[in-house]
Amino acid sequence: MLTLYLHIPFCKARCSYCDFYLVTRQGLVDPFFRALSLETVARSADLTGTIISAIHFGGGTPSLVPVRLLRGWLDQLRSLCTFAADIEIALEANPEDLTEETMDELRAAGITRLSLGVQSFLPEKLKILGRKHSALESQRVTAGALRTFDSVSVDLICGVPGEDLSMWNADLQTALALYPQHLSVYMLSVEPKTLLHRKIEKGIVTVPDDAVQASMYAVAMREAALHGYTHYELSNFCLPGHHSRYNLSSWKREPYLGFGPSAHSFLVAGEREIRMANVSSLTRYIAAPAHAVVFHEELSAEERFTEQVFLSLRINSGLEVEFLQKENKLGHLVARSIDQFTGKGWTVQHQGLLYLTEKGFLFADYIAAALIFG
Ligand code: SF4
Repeated sequence: MLTLYLHIPFCKARCSYCDFYLVTRQGLVDPFFRALSLETVARSADLTGTIISAIHFGGGTPSLVPVRLLRGWLDQLRSLCTFAADIEIALEANPEDLTEETMDELRAAGITRLSLGVQSFLPEKLKILGRKHSALESQRVTAGALRTFDSVSVDLICGVPGEDLSMWNADLQTALALYPQHLSVYMLSVEPKTLLHRKIEKGIVTVPDDAVQASMYAVAMREAALHGYTHYELSNFCLPGHHSRYNLSSWKREPYLGFGPSAHSFLVAGEREIRMANVSSLTRYIAAPAHAVVFHEELSAEERFTEQVFLSLRINSGLEVEFLQKENKLGHLVARSIDQFTGKGWTVQHQGLLYLTEKGFLFADYIAAALIFG
Protein backbone atom coordinates (compact mmCIF):
# COMPACT_ATOMS: atom_id res chain seq x y z
CA MET A 1 0.00 0.00 0.00
CA LEU A 2 1.17 3.49 -0.81
CA THR A 3 -0.17 6.96 -0.15
CA LEU A 4 0.26 9.98 -2.43
CA TYR A 5 0.58 13.68 -1.75
CA LEU A 6 0.17 16.51 -4.23
CA HIS A 7 1.40 19.98 -3.34
CA ILE A 8 -0.70 22.59 -5.13
CA PRO A 9 1.33 25.77 -4.63
CA PHE A 10 -1.26 28.48 -5.30
CA CYS A 11 -2.88 30.88 -2.84
CA LYS A 12 -4.85 34.08 -3.38
CA ALA A 13 -2.54 35.96 -1.01
CA ARG A 14 -0.13 34.99 1.74
CA CYS A 15 -1.59 34.77 5.27
CA SER A 16 0.33 36.73 7.91
CA TYR A 17 1.79 33.65 9.63
CA CYS A 18 2.53 31.41 6.64
CA ASP A 19 5.97 30.43 5.38
CA PHE A 20 4.94 27.57 3.05
CA TYR A 21 6.18 27.41 -0.49
CA LEU A 22 3.46 29.04 -2.65
CA VAL A 23 2.85 31.54 -5.41
CA THR A 24 0.00 34.02 -5.81
CA ARG A 25 0.04 34.12 -9.64
CA GLN A 26 -2.92 32.04 -10.80
CA GLY A 27 -1.81 32.24 -14.46
CA LEU A 28 0.46 29.23 -13.92
CA VAL A 29 -2.29 26.81 -12.86
CA ASP A 30 -2.70 25.15 -16.30
CA PRO A 31 1.08 24.89 -16.96
CA PHE A 32 1.44 23.42 -13.47
CA PHE A 33 -1.06 20.64 -14.17
CA ARG A 34 0.59 19.90 -17.54
CA ALA A 35 3.92 19.59 -15.70
CA LEU A 36 2.30 17.39 -13.05
CA SER A 37 1.11 15.02 -15.74
CA LEU A 38 4.70 14.76 -17.06
CA GLU A 39 6.12 14.24 -13.56
CA THR A 40 3.57 11.46 -13.02
CA VAL A 41 4.63 9.73 -16.27
CA ALA A 42 8.29 10.09 -15.28
CA ARG A 43 7.62 8.42 -11.92
CA SER A 44 5.22 5.78 -13.23
CA ALA A 45 7.66 2.98 -12.33
CA ASP A 46 7.06 3.80 -8.65
CA LEU A 47 3.28 3.66 -9.21
CA THR A 48 2.83 0.64 -11.47
CA GLY A 49 1.42 -2.37 -9.63
CA THR A 50 0.80 -0.47 -6.39
CA ILE A 51 -2.41 -0.11 -4.43
CA ILE A 52 -3.10 3.43 -3.29
CA SER A 53 -4.85 3.74 0.08
CA ALA A 54 -4.93 7.55 0.32
CA ILE A 55 -4.34 10.64 -1.79
CA HIS A 56 -3.93 14.03 -0.18
CA PHE A 57 -4.29 17.31 -2.05
CA GLY A 58 -2.37 19.82 0.07
CA GLY A 59 -0.88 23.23 -0.44
CA GLY A 60 -1.14 26.09 -0.91
CA THR A 61 -4.85 26.08 -1.58
CA PRO A 62 -6.10 23.09 -3.58
CA SER A 63 -9.66 24.47 -3.53
CA LEU A 64 -8.45 27.35 -5.70
CA VAL A 65 -7.88 25.22 -8.82
CA PRO A 66 -10.62 24.04 -11.20
CA VAL A 67 -12.09 20.68 -10.21
CA ARG A 68 -11.64 19.36 -13.79
CA LEU A 69 -7.83 19.57 -13.30
CA LEU A 70 -7.97 17.55 -10.06
CA ARG A 71 -10.20 15.00 -11.80
CA GLY A 72 -7.78 14.80 -14.73
CA TRP A 73 -4.86 13.88 -12.47
CA LEU A 74 -6.94 11.28 -10.61
CA ASP A 75 -7.87 9.73 -13.99
CA GLN A 76 -4.20 9.61 -14.98
CA LEU A 77 -3.32 7.91 -11.68
CA ARG A 78 -6.10 5.35 -12.17
CA SER A 79 -4.50 4.36 -15.46
CA LEU A 80 -1.16 3.69 -13.70
CA CYS A 81 -2.09 2.10 -10.37
CA THR A 82 -4.98 0.64 -8.39
CA PHE A 83 -7.08 2.65 -5.99
CA ALA A 84 -8.10 0.70 -2.85
CA ALA A 85 -11.89 0.14 -2.73
CA ASP A 86 -12.12 2.35 0.38
CA ILE A 87 -9.53 4.90 -0.74
CA GLU A 88 -9.39 8.22 1.12
CA ILE A 89 -9.04 11.19 -1.24
CA ALA A 90 -8.66 14.30 0.89
CA LEU A 91 -8.55 17.91 -0.19
CA GLU A 92 -7.48 20.94 1.81
CA ALA A 93 -9.89 23.81 1.18
CA ASN A 94 -10.36 27.40 2.24
CA PRO A 95 -13.93 28.42 3.15
CA GLU A 96 -14.01 31.42 0.76
CA ASP A 97 -13.54 29.11 -2.27
CA LEU A 98 -16.46 26.82 -1.51
CA THR A 99 -20.07 27.04 -2.61
CA GLU A 100 -22.64 24.24 -2.40
CA GLU A 101 -22.03 23.62 -6.14
CA THR A 102 -18.23 23.40 -5.80
CA MET A 103 -18.56 20.95 -2.93
CA ASP A 104 -20.95 18.79 -4.99
CA GLU A 105 -18.47 18.92 -7.88
CA LEU A 106 -15.57 17.91 -5.62
CA ARG A 107 -17.53 15.02 -4.25
CA ALA A 108 -18.51 13.88 -7.75
CA ALA A 109 -14.79 14.03 -8.71
CA GLY A 110 -14.04 11.47 -6.00
CA ILE A 111 -13.01 13.62 -3.03
CA THR A 112 -14.04 11.69 0.11
CA ARG A 113 -12.69 13.98 2.81
CA LEU A 114 -12.62 17.75 3.05
CA SER A 115 -10.07 19.41 5.30
CA LEU A 116 -11.24 22.96 5.98
CA GLY A 117 -8.70 25.67 6.73
CA VAL A 118 -11.13 27.46 9.03
CA GLN A 119 -8.48 28.47 11.61
CA SER A 120 -11.05 30.39 13.65
CA PHE A 121 -14.71 31.29 13.95
CA LEU A 122 -13.84 34.68 15.49
CA PRO A 123 -13.49 37.78 13.26
CA GLU A 124 -10.66 39.31 15.32
CA LYS A 125 -8.53 36.16 15.04
CA LEU A 126 -9.19 35.78 11.31
CA LYS A 127 -8.12 39.39 10.80
CA ILE A 128 -4.81 39.06 12.60
CA LEU A 129 -4.06 35.78 10.80
CA GLY A 130 -4.70 37.54 7.48
CA ARG A 131 -7.31 34.99 6.43
CA LYS A 132 -9.58 35.86 3.52
CA HIS A 133 -12.84 34.39 4.80
CA SER A 134 -15.28 35.78 7.35
CA ALA A 135 -16.38 34.19 10.62
CA LEU A 136 -19.84 33.67 9.11
CA GLU A 137 -18.31 31.88 6.11
CA SER A 138 -16.39 29.59 8.51
CA GLN A 139 -19.69 28.42 9.99
CA ARG A 140 -21.75 28.33 6.80
CA VAL A 141 -19.16 26.36 4.83
CA THR A 142 -18.43 23.90 7.65
CA ALA A 143 -22.15 23.16 7.97
CA GLY A 144 -22.43 22.77 4.17
CA ALA A 145 -19.38 20.50 4.01
CA LEU A 146 -20.86 18.29 6.73
CA ARG A 147 -24.00 17.87 4.62
CA THR A 148 -21.95 16.98 1.52
CA PHE A 149 -19.04 14.82 2.75
CA ASP A 150 -18.90 11.83 5.09
CA SER A 151 -15.66 13.07 6.59
CA VAL A 152 -14.86 16.70 7.32
CA SER A 153 -11.90 18.07 9.22
CA VAL A 154 -11.75 21.55 10.71
CA ASP A 155 -8.37 23.21 11.37
CA LEU A 156 -8.20 25.65 14.27
CA ILE A 157 -5.30 27.79 15.45
CA CYS A 158 -4.87 28.88 19.06
CA GLY A 159 -2.38 31.20 20.74
CA VAL A 160 -3.05 34.07 18.31
CA PRO A 161 -1.98 37.59 19.40
CA GLY A 162 -4.65 39.13 21.60
CA GLU A 163 -6.36 35.78 22.26
CA ASP A 164 -7.20 34.79 25.82
CA LEU A 165 -8.56 31.58 27.25
CA SER A 166 -12.21 32.64 27.01
CA MET A 167 -11.82 33.55 23.31
CA TRP A 168 -10.21 30.19 22.65
CA ASN A 169 -12.95 28.39 24.50
CA ALA A 170 -15.62 30.23 22.48
CA ASP A 171 -13.83 29.33 19.23
CA LEU A 172 -13.49 25.70 20.22
CA GLN A 173 -17.11 25.41 21.37
CA THR A 174 -18.32 26.76 17.99
CA ALA A 175 -16.31 24.06 16.24
CA LEU A 176 -17.52 21.33 18.59
CA ALA A 177 -21.16 22.42 18.21
CA LEU A 178 -20.83 21.88 14.45
CA TYR A 179 -19.43 18.42 15.32
CA PRO A 180 -17.04 17.73 12.41
CA GLN A 181 -15.65 14.20 12.25
CA HIS A 182 -12.09 15.50 12.70
CA LEU A 183 -10.48 18.45 14.41
CA SER A 184 -6.89 19.68 14.09
CA VAL A 185 -5.72 22.13 16.74
CA TYR A 186 -2.46 23.94 16.06
CA MET A 187 -0.64 26.24 18.41
CA LEU A 188 0.33 29.32 16.40
CA SER A 189 3.92 28.97 15.32
CA VAL A 190 5.58 32.28 14.55
CA GLU A 191 7.94 31.64 11.66
CA PRO A 192 10.81 33.98 10.78
CA LYS A 193 10.31 36.35 7.83
CA THR A 194 6.52 36.30 8.07
CA LEU A 195 4.42 39.45 8.42
CA LEU A 196 3.31 38.31 11.86
CA HIS A 197 6.90 37.80 12.96
CA ARG A 198 7.75 41.36 11.92
CA LYS A 199 4.75 42.74 13.85
CA ILE A 200 5.83 40.83 16.96
CA GLU A 201 9.45 41.99 16.57
CA LYS A 202 8.26 45.60 16.38
CA GLY A 203 6.09 45.13 19.46
CA ILE A 204 2.86 45.87 17.54
CA VAL A 205 1.27 42.62 18.78
CA THR A 206 2.19 39.99 21.39
CA VAL A 207 1.38 36.31 21.56
CA PRO A 208 -0.09 34.75 24.73
CA ASP A 209 2.59 33.45 27.11
CA ASP A 210 3.57 29.78 27.42
CA ALA A 211 1.31 29.13 30.43
CA VAL A 212 -1.76 30.47 28.57
CA GLN A 213 -0.85 28.46 25.48
CA ALA A 214 -0.48 25.30 27.59
CA SER A 215 -3.92 25.97 29.13
CA MET A 216 -5.42 26.41 25.64
CA TYR A 217 -4.05 23.04 24.60
CA ALA A 218 -5.30 21.44 27.83
CA VAL A 219 -8.80 22.88 27.22
CA ALA A 220 -8.76 21.46 23.68
CA MET A 221 -7.83 17.99 24.95
CA ARG A 222 -10.48 18.07 27.69
CA GLU A 223 -13.31 19.39 25.52
CA ALA A 224 -12.53 17.11 22.59
CA ALA A 225 -12.59 14.08 24.91
CA LEU A 226 -15.90 15.23 26.44
CA HIS A 227 -17.39 15.35 22.93
CA GLY A 228 -16.24 11.82 22.11
CA TYR A 229 -13.13 12.57 20.04
CA THR A 230 -10.02 10.39 20.24
CA HIS A 231 -6.76 12.29 20.63
CA TYR A 232 -4.82 10.21 18.09
CA GLU A 233 -1.94 12.58 17.41
CA LEU A 234 -0.44 15.58 19.15
CA SER A 235 -2.61 18.10 17.24
CA ASN A 236 -5.36 15.84 15.93
CA PHE A 237 -8.66 14.55 17.26
CA CYS A 238 -11.23 12.39 15.51
CA LEU A 239 -14.48 10.52 15.87
CA PRO A 240 -14.09 6.74 15.45
CA GLY A 241 -12.68 5.80 12.02
CA HIS A 242 -12.15 9.40 10.86
CA HIS A 243 -8.38 9.85 11.34
CA SER A 244 -6.48 11.28 8.38
CA ARG A 245 -5.26 8.14 6.66
CA TYR A 246 -2.56 9.92 4.69
CA ASN A 247 -1.18 11.78 7.73
CA LEU A 248 -1.31 8.78 10.04
CA SER A 249 0.47 6.64 7.50
CA SER A 250 3.31 9.18 7.17
CA TRP A 251 3.61 9.49 10.97
CA LYS A 252 3.88 5.70 11.07
CA ARG A 253 6.72 6.00 8.57
CA GLU A 254 4.92 4.14 5.82
CA PRO A 255 5.96 4.93 2.24
CA TYR A 256 4.45 7.85 0.36
CA LEU A 257 5.13 9.63 -2.90
CA GLY A 258 4.96 13.40 -3.12
CA PHE A 259 4.24 15.27 -6.37
CA GLY A 260 4.52 18.96 -7.20
CA PRO A 261 7.04 21.62 -6.16
CA SER A 262 8.55 21.21 -2.66
CA ALA A 263 6.76 17.87 -2.10
CA HIS A 264 8.64 15.18 -0.17
CA SER A 265 8.63 11.42 -0.70
CA PHE A 266 9.56 8.51 1.54
CA LEU A 267 10.33 5.13 0.04
CA VAL A 268 11.13 1.84 1.74
CA ALA A 269 13.08 -0.87 -0.09
CA GLY A 270 13.79 -3.81 2.21
CA GLU A 271 16.07 -2.42 4.94
CA ARG A 272 16.70 0.80 3.05
CA GLU A 273 14.70 3.96 3.67
CA ILE A 274 14.97 6.86 1.24
CA ARG A 275 13.79 10.43 1.54
CA MET A 276 13.41 12.64 -1.52
CA ALA A 277 12.38 16.24 -2.06
CA ASN A 278 11.15 18.04 -5.16
CA VAL A 279 12.46 21.39 -6.27
CA SER A 280 10.94 24.33 -4.32
CA SER A 281 10.35 26.51 -7.35
CA LEU A 282 7.26 26.45 -9.53
CA THR A 283 9.06 27.84 -12.59
CA ARG A 284 11.86 25.27 -12.31
CA TYR A 285 9.27 22.55 -11.74
CA ILE A 286 7.32 23.55 -14.84
CA ALA A 287 10.54 23.76 -16.89
CA ALA A 288 11.71 20.22 -16.01
CA PRO A 289 8.97 18.19 -14.29
CA ALA A 290 10.59 14.86 -15.12
CA HIS A 291 13.57 15.97 -13.04
CA ALA A 292 11.60 17.46 -10.14
CA VAL A 293 13.45 15.43 -7.50
CA VAL A 294 16.47 17.48 -6.41
CA PHE A 295 17.25 15.85 -3.08
CA HIS A 296 17.74 12.15 -2.45
CA GLU A 297 19.10 10.64 0.75
CA GLU A 298 19.25 7.19 2.31
CA LEU A 299 18.60 7.41 6.05
CA SER A 300 21.30 6.16 8.39
CA ALA A 301 20.41 3.83 11.28
CA GLU A 302 20.63 6.81 13.70
CA GLU A 303 18.29 8.91 11.58
CA ARG A 304 15.79 6.08 11.33
CA PHE A 305 15.88 5.58 15.09
CA THR A 306 15.45 9.31 15.80
CA GLU A 307 12.51 9.63 13.41
CA GLN A 308 10.86 6.54 14.83
CA VAL A 309 11.05 7.85 18.41
CA PHE A 310 9.85 11.38 17.60
CA LEU A 311 6.98 10.19 15.43
CA SER A 312 5.84 7.24 17.57
CA LEU A 313 5.49 9.44 20.63
CA ARG A 314 3.22 11.85 18.75
CA ILE A 315 0.63 9.20 17.91
CA ASN A 316 -1.46 7.12 20.25
CA SER A 317 -0.16 3.71 19.13
CA GLY A 318 2.86 3.93 21.46
CA LEU A 319 6.60 3.35 21.24
CA GLU A 320 8.13 -0.09 21.89
CA VAL A 321 10.29 0.14 25.00
CA GLU A 322 12.41 -2.86 23.91
CA PHE A 323 13.15 -1.16 20.58
CA LEU A 324 14.11 1.99 22.45
CA GLN A 325 16.57 0.12 24.67
CA LYS A 326 18.03 -2.05 21.91
CA GLU A 327 18.53 0.58 19.22
CA ASN A 328 19.80 3.38 21.44
CA LYS A 329 23.53 3.54 22.24
CA LEU A 330 22.44 4.98 25.60
CA GLY A 331 19.90 2.18 26.07
CA HIS A 332 21.03 1.56 29.66
CA LEU A 333 19.76 5.07 30.57
CA VAL A 334 16.33 4.63 28.98
CA ALA A 335 14.68 2.85 31.92
CA ARG A 336 15.78 5.61 34.29
CA SER A 337 14.44 8.36 31.98
CA ILE A 338 11.12 6.53 31.59
CA ASP A 339 10.83 6.20 35.37
CA GLN A 340 11.40 9.93 35.75
CA PHE A 341 8.82 10.82 33.10
CA THR A 342 6.32 8.38 34.56
CA GLY A 343 6.94 9.90 38.02
CA LYS A 344 6.05 13.33 36.60
CA GLY A 345 2.86 11.91 35.07
CA TRP A 346 4.13 12.47 31.50
CA THR A 347 4.28 8.86 30.29
CA VAL A 348 2.60 5.52 30.95
CA GLN A 349 3.63 2.00 29.96
CA HIS A 350 1.30 -0.74 28.86
CA GLN A 351 2.25 -4.16 27.45
CA GLY A 352 5.77 -3.07 26.49
CA LEU A 353 4.66 0.17 24.85
CA LEU A 354 5.32 3.70 26.06
CA TYR A 355 2.62 6.36 25.66
CA LEU A 356 2.49 10.06 26.43
CA THR A 357 -0.21 11.17 28.84
CA GLU A 358 -2.22 14.34 28.15
CA LYS A 359 0.26 16.20 30.35
CA GLY A 360 3.12 14.53 28.51
CA PHE A 361 1.86 15.75 25.11
CA LEU A 362 2.90 19.24 26.23
CA PHE A 363 6.51 18.04 26.45
CA ALA A 364 6.51 15.59 23.52
CA ASP A 365 9.66 16.88 21.81
CA TYR A 366 11.57 17.24 25.08
CA ILE A 367 10.70 13.68 26.08
CA ALA A 368 11.65 12.28 22.67
CA ALA A 369 14.98 14.14 22.71
CA ALA A 370 15.76 12.90 26.23
CA LEU A 371 15.01 9.29 25.24
CA ILE A 372 17.28 9.57 22.19
CA PHE A 373 20.16 11.65 23.46
CA GLY A 374 20.07 10.85 27.16
S1 SF4 B 1 -4.09 29.67 2.71
FE1 SF4 B 1 -2.73 28.27 3.83
S2 SF4 B 1 -1.00 27.90 2.45
FE2 SF4 B 1 -2.10 29.73 1.68
S3 SF4 B 1 -1.04 31.46 2.58
FE3 SF4 B 1 -2.74 30.96 3.97
S4 SF4 B 1 -1.86 29.51 5.46
FE4 SF4 B 1 -0.44 29.64 3.74
